[in-house]
Amino acid sequence: MAHNVLNRYLFEDLSVRGELVQLDDAFQQIISSKEYPAPLKNLLGELLVSTTLLTATLKFEGSITMQLQGDGPVSLAVINGDNDQKVRGIARWEGKIESNATIHDMMGKGYLVITIEPKKGERYQGIVALEGNNLAEILEGYFANSEQLKTRLWIRTGEHEGKPQAAGMLIQVMPDGKGGEEDFEHLEQLTDTVKNDELFTLQANDLLYRLYNQEKVRLYQPQPVAFHCGCSREKSGAAIVTLGHAEVDNILDEIGSVSLHCDYCGTTYSFDQTQVAELFNQTNSGDNTLH
Ligand SMILES: [Zn+2]
Repeated sequence: MAHNVLNRYLFEDLSVRGELVQLDDAFQQIISSKEYPAPLKNLLGELLVSTTLLTATLKFEGSITMQLQGDGPVSLAVINGDNDQKVRGIARWEGKIESNATIHDMMGKGYLVITIEPKKGERYQGIVALEGNNLAEILEGYFANSEQLKTRLWIRTGEHEGKPQAAGMLIQVMPDGKGGEEDFEHLEQLTDTVKNDELFTLQANDLLYRLYNQEKVRLYQPQPVAFHCGCSREKSGAAIVTLGHAEVDNILDEIGSVSLHCDYCGTTYSFDQTQVAELFNQTNSGDNTLH
């Protein structure tokens, strides 16, 4: 079984490219950090699949964050992924979420923020209205408006043998302009026939053959996708220093230590008085400013 993997492929004669992502552990680890209601788990799964499909096209080192914000029971659902397909995510909600809740029931009046952040260079942010019945339709609208490249997405979440699964496919006309409309529609119809079980269980080769056996498809090297939180004790220490001496001393006086909690992975980083002093010393070495 091929899991936690991203595959890219190309219909060589049709100037259309494709992606297939199949996730179980990476998805499982993200939704296990809290007792999420089932529809919210699925929404995080859809966001995760979308983020992976989008980061597949990054041509530089960096990350993409897809963040849903709204005034509904779910105030925030966010997934962050980088060019190495390291993914993490979190959601916040309040109150009851019905088992059949849609994205609109959960988010209320909201929007999707897509942030593309290169390691070097300017970051780009796009704000997308929640127009569509589900995240795939919302993103198709985004592509139609921003990239002008015809794009279709299929995103499915569910379970296989008791294990949560999130998977998806994307097809997109190549920018060379050679892809014909009829060919694209034909590929859409073929991809529409994909069943959840096939998406969750078949190897890329088998799945692509099952869907497109009449077409010439070139399948590229797969890329593994893994849950990974970028947080560290070092980064937390740096964040504490940015709070400034006065603020940190107040906290130390009150509770004896300073702690930072990472929502993405649930790790807490604690620093006692001596460790805090070390943090400030390290930062100030070679620095003559008085504190
Ligand atoms: Zn973390």
